[in-house]
Amino acid sequence: MSSADEILAGYDSLQADQEAFYKDLHQHPELSHQEHRTAGRVAGQLREYGCMVHDGIGGTGVVGMLSNGDGPTVLLRADMDALPVKEDTGADYASTATARDTDGSEVPVAHACGHDVHVACLLGAAKLMADQPGRWNGTLLALFQPAEETGDGAQGMVDDGLLTRIPAPDVALAQHVLAGVAGTVGTHPGPFLSAADSVKVTVYGRGGHGSMPQNTVDPVVLAASIVLRLQTVVSREIAPTETAVLTVGSSQAGTKSNVIPDRAVLQLNLRSYSPQTRQRMLDAVARIVRGECQAAGSPRDPDFETLDSYSLTDNDPATTNRVTAAFSAHFGDRAVPWAQQTASEDFSDIPRAAGIPYTYWAIGGTDPQAYRAAEKAGRVADDIPGNHSPHFLPVPQPTLRAGTEALTVAALAWLAPR
Ligand code: ZN
Ligand code: ZN
Repeated sequence: MSSADEILAGYDSLQADQEAFYKDLHQHPELSHQEHRTAGRVAGQLREYGCMVHDGIGGTGVVGMLSNGDGPTVLLRADMDALPVKEDTGADYASTATARDTDGSEVPVAHACGHDVHVACLLGAAKLMADQPGRWNGTLLALFQPAEETGDGAQGMVDDGLLTRIPAPDVALAQHVLAGVAGTVGTHPGPFLSAADSVKVTVYGRGGHGSMPQNTVDPVVLAASIVLRLQTVVSREIAPTETAVLTVGSSQAGTKSNVIPDRAVLQLNLRSYSPQTRQRMLDAVARIVRGECQAAGSPRDPDFETLDSYSLTDNDPATTNRVTAAFSAHFGDRAVPWAQQTASEDFSDIPRAAGIPYTYWAIGGTDPQAYRAAEKAGRVADDIPGNHSPHFLPVPQPTLRAGTEALTVAALAWLAPR
């Protein structure tokens, strides 16, 4: 038996506790930057396993450290936050929680992105490693990050001195549960998750009576023109071989049919897989918005505000190959290549700040029979709820087992004696 097999043999004895912990987290989701209960429970578990714990990093961030002699230092990361979504899964452990969002309004809260799976799996991996110190060497850092969904949790930990509080890691690893066959793990070398930018654009007109347009500059027409012209950014300015997305997700102006308002507000979301494409798109947006404002005779320059910004998740090929080989040895044909995703993540802000390589992989969370049936019928997009859907709910098993094994096997690709 390999070291990994010996260590993973401990999973059966922690499975029941892990599932109970997971369901408790699922019923107690917390919004970004509000992960107090979650962080407290995580820190408590880590101390129980014998980890040295740093908490309160960047708000609610927690790092558990297992030092086990000379060897590499591996950082494993899980995110902890939930979303303002009303869960509609019918599970007996479904969330009915509500919370106040940053505007002060009461919103439903659910783990609609599966970060509760990530937390439970990372705790499981830390427990397995803590129980078998004789089978590995080095340092394991189990990092629990706040506020992935707002894109600023990882950077918040870095800005709060994360890297001065922990030993310098040699490599950083993380995973996400996605719609896919539960029990499978998927890797992808190179750009895996897109860079994302959300931009709020305010354009100005001159308001007036709907019956006298000649005395106004109509920002509704201006905004409509911008929305259409923005459709040419990807179709006409980005090479057909590049993947990019530009969506206008919100367009707001006016209050009444016979009042021409004085401004319009658009919210844009941009996704890209290279810094060059990202810059080209941002420049194109600024150029088009300014140009249309000028064409409309807008009385004031438009305002641009960045709402959130996610870096590209660009998996280091050598690191990814090492993890992929370890997964293939352990999971066999359940280790699969995973296609590039247009989702985004802020995980890479941590390894980028530390100047170390990283890789990020996917684990399936969908009931295998349901997924394969949908795949066969060509109905995956219709029938299988994806992340952020009110219906998204990973099956606890084999998802938790596979996620725990994946983190452990990947860490041991550095920490197990050769
Ligand atoms: Zn999410
Ligand atoms: Zn997520």
